[in-house]
This record gives sequence, C-alpha cells and structure tokens, in this order.
Amino acid sequence: MINVAIDGPAGAGKSTIAKAAAKKLGFIYVDTGALYRTIALNCVRHGVIDCPEKIVELLKETDVKLDFDESGSQCVFLNGEDVSSLIRTPEISMGASTVSKIPEVRAFLLDLQRDIAKNNNVIMDGRDIGTVVLPNADKKIFLSASAECRAERRYKELIEKGVEVKFEDVLSDVNERDYQDSHREIAPLKPSEDSIMADTTGMSLEDSTNMIINIIKGE
Ligand code: C5P
Repeated sequence: MINVAIDGPAGAGKSTIAKAAAKKLGFIYVDTGALYRTIALNCVRHGVIDCPEKIVELLKETDVKLDFDESGSQCVFLNGEDVSSLIRTPEISMGASTVSKIPEVRAFLLDLQRDIAKNNNVIMDGRDIGTVVLPNADKKIFLSASAECRAERRYKELIEKGVEVKFEDVLSDVNERDYQDSHREIAPLKPSEDSIMADTTGMSLEDSTNMIINIIKGE
C-alpha cells in the first residue's frame, strides 16, 4: 500500500489539495481533522467541551467511523449518525483544537487512522500524520501558506457555504488554532525531519495540486 502523509496548519489548503491529488492518483483521501471535529461535536452536545475529565469519560460511549463512497468522498459517523456536514462550523473547529490536546482522545483515534492506511493507498491529512500516525509513510509533505492567505481561503469557503463570519474573526481563529496546535504537549504540529516542505501562498488550487502530485510521484 502507498501511504502519503500531508500535515500542516489550518487552512493551508490541505484538504482541497489532498482530495484533488487523491482523485487524480486513485487513492483514498482521509481527512483526520474530521475525527477530532466529531469528538468535539459529541462533547458540545453533551455540554462537556470545557471539562477534560468528562471528555475522556464520554469516549467510553463514543463510536466514530469513516466511510468512503465510490468517488472517494469521506463521510464520518458518530454513533451511527452521519455528522459530516454538522462538524464544519467555527465552534466545532475550535472545539476540535481543544479536544485534540487530550492524550486519551488522540489514542482513541489512532488505530482507526492506522487501519485505513494499512488496507488502502491513502493520502492522509492532519497535524501529526508524518510524525505519529504514519511514521513510515512513503511520502511526507508539510503544506503551509501565510496566515493571511489561509484565513482568506477559509473565509471564502465559509461564505460560500452560507456561514456568516467576519474576516477578522476568521484570521484570529486561524492564529489562535495555529498557536494551540503547535504549542500543545502531545503531538504538536511540526514538520518531521524527513518531510518535504511545500508553501502554497499565492498559488492557485491547480498549481498547488500539481506540485503535490509531482512530489508524490517523486518528480
Ligand atoms: O484539519 P481540521 O481543521 O479539520 O482539524 C481540526 C482540528 O483538529 C485542528 O485544529 C487540530 O487541533 C486537530 N487535529 C489534530 N490532529 C490531526 C487532525 C486535526 O490535532 N491529525
């Protein structure tokens, strides 16, 4: 199986680029952020997002599954319910960053991620894929872009989905999440020593995708 790890900060275009590259290569695209978002949604629903002990307790009655349709699109299920579209709000983005600091949450999601990679050719995107989840990945890419550029992309995405937001709020969310993700004790966001750095600031989606495909093919 071929395993490609793509890590990087929020809004670097990882999901869009990885999804497009996976489609062209016939690989499955795995968005691991969706798993942390699903845990966050469950915690928000139970009113425990501010209490790490209760978050850990809730894991005992939590079942998270990923499913992929023929086109390779990913759906995520929380205790059997398809929550794929419910997890894309700013509140859940921040909640995901909060739950992802908890070691038990990361351990809870680890096997699920590794099992998918064991059985499929995958492009897996996240924060710790090259460092923790798939340390032996065939290719490791660290994808980034300036904070302003990333906030701009996320802002457009949210507006297109009809979510009402202000650009300043999206930018401060991006900065806050970058800080939280790179300063946490467990699995902080950082490139592994053997990862290839790719910066997409100012690049179009098509050019970024081609850059990633060329890296994967080793060109
Ligand atoms: O990629 P996405 O923005 O959907 O991820 C949401 C949050 O989940 C991130 O800000 C990060 O805190 C967490 N995450 C993580 N490890 C991953 C993927 C996401 O900690 N592999």
